[in-house]
Amino acid sequence: MFLTSPKSQTAYDVIIVGSGAGGGMAAYQLSVSGLKVLVLEAGRHYDPVRETPMFNLPREAPLMGGGTREKPFGFYDATVDGGWEVPGEPYTNAPGSNFMWWRARMLGGRTNHWGRISLRMGEYDFKPKTRDGLGADWPLTYQELAPYYDKTEMLVGVFGGDDDLENTPRSSPGVLQPAPKARGSELLTQKHAGRIGIPVIPIHRAIMTERQDPVALPMKLHPDNALARRVLAQSMRSRQACFYATECGRGCSIKANFQSSTVLIPPALLTGNCDIVPDAMVREVLVDAKGNATGVKYIDKVTRTERKAKARVVVLAASAAETARILLNSRSTQFPNGLANASGLVGKYLMDTVGAGLSIQVPALENVPAHNEDGTSGEHLYMPWWLYKEQLKGDLGFARGYHIEFGGGRGMPGPGIFG
Ligand SMILES: Cc1cc2nc3c(=O)[nH]c(=O)nc-3n(C[C@H](O)[C@H](O)[C@H](O)COP(=O)(O)OP(=O)(O)OC[C@H]3O[C@@H](n4cnc5c(N)ncnc54)[C@H](O)[C@@H]3O)c2cc1C
Repeated sequence: MFLTSPKSQTAYDVIIVGSGAGGGMAAYQLSVSGLKVLVLEAGRHYDPVRETPMFNLPREAPLMGGGTREKPFGFYDATVDGGWEVPGEPYTNAPGSNFMWWRARMLGGRTNHWGRISLRMGEYDFKPKTRDGLGADWPLTYQELAPYYDKTEMLVGVFGGDDDLENTPRSSPGVLQPAPKARGSELLTQKHAGRIGIPVIPIHRAIMTERQDPVALPMKLHPDNALARRVLAQSMRSRQACFYATECGRGCSIKANFQSSTVLIPPALLTGNCDIVPDAMVREVLVDAKGNATGVKYIDKVTRTERKAKARVVVLAASAAETARILLNSRSTQFPNGLANASGLVGKYLMDTVGAGLSIQVPALENVPAHNEDGTSGEHLYMPWWLYKEQLKGDLGFARGYHIEFGGGRGMPGPGIFG
């Protein structure tokens, strides 16, 4: 059985709320380190190996697989539960704002569906206040975080190039997997963008282009305990290299791309130190008289009953907004405004990722002879963050520039093809 249920007599060291990018990584790291971990996940159990429609064609799906209210990203999207609207979980917007809240309610959270673009922050991003006077500096530097970026990229499996541009740092040698070949539309863009000084380089994406050999891994990833070494080796051997079946948003039954539900949760369970309870919606963190966390209260969504779980430590990894909500719900005599909210700022000043898109027809790409454009999901090249210097002079009208993700070429006919 993939999941285990918590036994009431088991004492847990750590409760982790959520099993997505943050919760999955915490569950993996803590359980291979020997701690007893309980993961409470609000969504349903999900097994990508059994459930991913890797080879289904658009014509086999209703509406040729096009998006609907229930499945906004299309019939085959891996988000089997969740979306812009989650039944039973309404939210309101403050007057004048329009926040669209994408939530995945399933084991692995949004990592089942994300774009898998895995970029590092650069030196400037850690010290923005010092550089341009806006926002706040991070209390750490890029150099301090860099070794952990290396470790994470190796564990996750990220492909990319070794370009080293200002504020777009490279990974250490041996960390990244080889980038796939650029497609025709990407080479054309690279050629013309290069003429006007815009860099176009291999993107970094959490997809394995080669099988990993655990023995040949750089020392940085070799853990220092036997359990962690065994689990890591077993987990790496279970992953295949990408063979370009269908888009990663469907999930990946061969574990080539990164999903918490394929890369982090199964090895965490393998340790025997991790229990997972799906359909467990945590509502608040419990504290003792000293104000230390002792566990959580959660709703078992199947039986609709309230339950408690105890541990020495509670990790909230329920996504940015939901984590803030749990903290605000956790009111007690010691913390009347919610937990960790002495500042009164929890849940305020959230910032979303903003983007805009456009489509164009490029005459040079019309009527090109049929050729092989196979590759991973999404683009192989991109334009990294740029124009961050101009904004210092005020040319852009907004701070810190932007990056451009682009794609083009041939695709399997689907809904929207005439758009
Ligand atoms: C369409 C899309 C594309 C994206 N593409 C990229 C990309 O290319 N590159 C990139 O870096 N990022 C991308 N992201 C962002 C990335 O997916 C998130 O930043 C990341 O998943 C956040 O991790 P998390 O652990 O905070 O939240 P999640 O991965 O969302 O996990 C949170 C988990 O907590 C569970 N949960 C919530 N509330 C509770 C509760 N009360 N009790 C118990 N469990 C709870 C949820 O069900 C979920 O499983 C993308 C996101 C979206 C939506």
